[in-house]
Amino acid sequence: MGGVLGQIRFLDFQDIQQVKILGGRKMKKIFKKLVMVVGFTLLITLAITVISTDEASAYSWSRTLKEGSSGSDVRELQIRVAGWAADSPTRTYVAIDGQFGPGTKVAVMRFQRAYGLVADGIVGPATQAKLNDLERSNGTKHFSYSEFYSKDGSGFSGGRVSSTTVRENVRRMMYKLEAVRVKIGNKPITVNSGFRSISHNNSIPGSASNSQHTYGIAADIKSSGVSLTTLMNAAKSSGFSGVYNGGTFIHADSRVEYSYGAQYWYWP
Ligand SMILES: [Zn+2]
Repeated sequence: MGGVLGQIRFLDFQDIQQVKILGGRKMKKIFKKLVMVVGFTLLITLAITVISTDEASAYSWSRTLKEGSSGSDVRELQIRVAGWAADSPTRTYVAIDGQFGPGTKVAVMRFQRAYGLVADGIVGPATQAKLNDLERSNGTKHFSYSEFYSKDGSGFSGGRVSSTTVRENVRRMMYKLEAVRVKIGNKPITVNSGFRSISHNNSIPGSASNSQHTYGIAADIKSSGVSLTTLMNAAKSSGFSGVYNGGTFIHADSRVEYSYGAQYWYWP
């Protein structure tokens, strides 16, 4: 009894006076009210949480990162600058290993230069703010997960790796595509095909049976008013290891970075 009253006191002091005077039936009514108030409060809290993560989705950088740093925050940094692997078509990529080495540093410097920051390769508050500006709860600034869903309606399921892995692979790909987007003059990129379930991939005439699309590490892209050669060259400096001109689109994948991806560069 005392415990219940203690809880009620928090919510409504007037009710508590009534509880003291009145008995069982009134008590029941107040209890119902209490349940409603608590439920409503929980709902509001949940709504606020959902809204805030949606609006301010950003990684919590807690320190300045520089060459020699290591950790999960370095890994998150590497994912975000992976599209800045090179200045021109080069068979290289930023290793996502949590170790801030020379490769990460030059990628950071390219990122900084592209976004109007001091290109010192040191990731302090200004650079972290630019990195956060690219992040969204549903993907990145210019790409959302849904653009990469399998066209048969299966989302990220039915592939050769789990849907969780596909989602993470797509997240990494979106940051590379953000760099490609900048390199072609900040032009919107259309994703013709992102992840494909195995069954969807099998339904596409001429598709490779072990398509990189079935792992969520490939995208077929185009950009209105941008030549496929320009788009292809941008992809080839953005850490993609499988790049080819599909006639009406550019296929770009990260095959060499994944144990289950094709382990060779494919740049016909
Ligand atoms: Zn493709």
